[in-house]
Amino acid sequence: MKVLVINCGSSSLKYQVLDMPSEQLICKGLVEKIGLKDSMLTHTKIGADEKFVLQSPMPDHTTAIGHVLDALLDPEHGVAKSLYEIGAVGHRILHGGDKFTASCLVDEKCKEAIRSCIPLGPLHNPANLMGIEACEKLMPGKPQVAVFDTAFHQTMPPEAFMYALPYEYYEKYAVRKYGFHGTSHRFVSAKAAEMLGKDIKDLKLISCHLGNGASLAAIKDGKCFDTSMGLTPLEGLVMGTRCGDIDPAAIPFIAEKEGMSFKEADTMMNKKSGILGVSGVSSDFRDVEAAANEGNARAQLALDMFVHRVKHYIGAYAAEMNGVDAIIFTAGLGENGKTTRAAICKDMDYLGIELDPERNDVRGKETVISSDASRVKVLLIPTNEELMIAMDTYDIVTK
Ligand code: AMP
Repeated sequence: MKVLVINCGSSSLKYQVLDMPSEQLICKGLVEKIGLKDSMLTHTKIGADEKFVLQSPMPDHTTAIGHVLDALLDPEHGVAKSLYEIGAVGHRILHGGDKFTASCLVDEKCKEAIRSCIPLGPLHNPANLMGIEACEKLMPGKPQVAVFDTAFHQTMPPEAFMYALPYEYYEKYAVRKYGFHGTSHRFVSAKAAEMLGKDIKDLKLISCHLGNGASLAAIKDGKCFDTSMGLTPLEGLVMGTRCGDIDPAAIPFIAEKEGMSFKEADTMMNKKSGILGVSGVSSDFRDVEAAANEGNARAQLALDMFVHRVKHYIGAYAAEMNGVDAIIFTAGLGENGKTTRAAICKDMDYLGIELDPERNDVRGKETVISSDASRVKVLLIPTNEELMIAMDTYDIVTK
């Protein structure tokens, strides 16, 4: 069965078609600038020499998905003769609140629940819904599955997910920790169990999803026990442009001095902070590493702060789970940044973590990077959220 995986952002859309259950990627693509005048679709058929690029106004997601479907059926660049060949569509949905503990078939109740989570994911959930509704319009009757970034984290115990704010805000507005990157943490933790030849229920894992957005998850008995992102993806690690954990009182303090509104403060914390804010160079780790290597002290400070915070969470999660069997590195920086991985694992021998420098000299490959003597295994596992979405979609529609 061919499964179309769609990840709708507010002005962009990423897609892949995978053959399931063989897990073969058939094509992938990106639509940029939806709603703007210079919208563009870039479609890549796996194995083809050239990309197919379409520049055409795409005022909304329905038009964009219409062009994606045309590209899938194109005699030259396409991957199917008719839409009947697409068995199902899987959608990445940002926020499922506490309503979704797993992926589910899209129906009116599911859409209503995604809609009710819009206050928690105001930028993403409306776009995710637009993607679902566009597919309903263009492929009536096609089964669709919703896969939530938050669902994997719903097993956290209350002591991990509650904030020590007045309880009424939890009751009135569902203010609590939800966590994100759940699809990635679930995918790599299942792979880790496979690599270690153990049942995931017998493992204590710390999964480090280190990309532009970054989060850690503590996974015990195959379930998420704690995670570093919170009500929104702002909490936790120092990220490309997000500040992560700070003293909350710093914000009213700065806002008062600068005459900043709540909205401006939110933008400052989400878009102007983190690696970019401290280094003043870039949000991209490669640029910041290059600047640090040329002697830029603020760039080095930003990287040191990033590493310090990851270590902080690894220590915390090992303590919370009463041990750790393996640490997983994944996502852009986790898969490619050997210097950062080495810095994180340095001086962690008290926890039984010892990296093998030669094994660590690797990029984007599923492999063990700890030494044979290391009590805790350190694993590099490329994430594949689209595959996880396709797996869930296939499982649900063939059940
Ligand atoms: P992601 O959000 O998962 O796509 O990850 C993006 C981040 O990974 C960016 O900040 C990149 O700088 C970083 N990254 C990608 N490749 C490398 C690399 N070779 N070395 C260091 N960082 C990298």
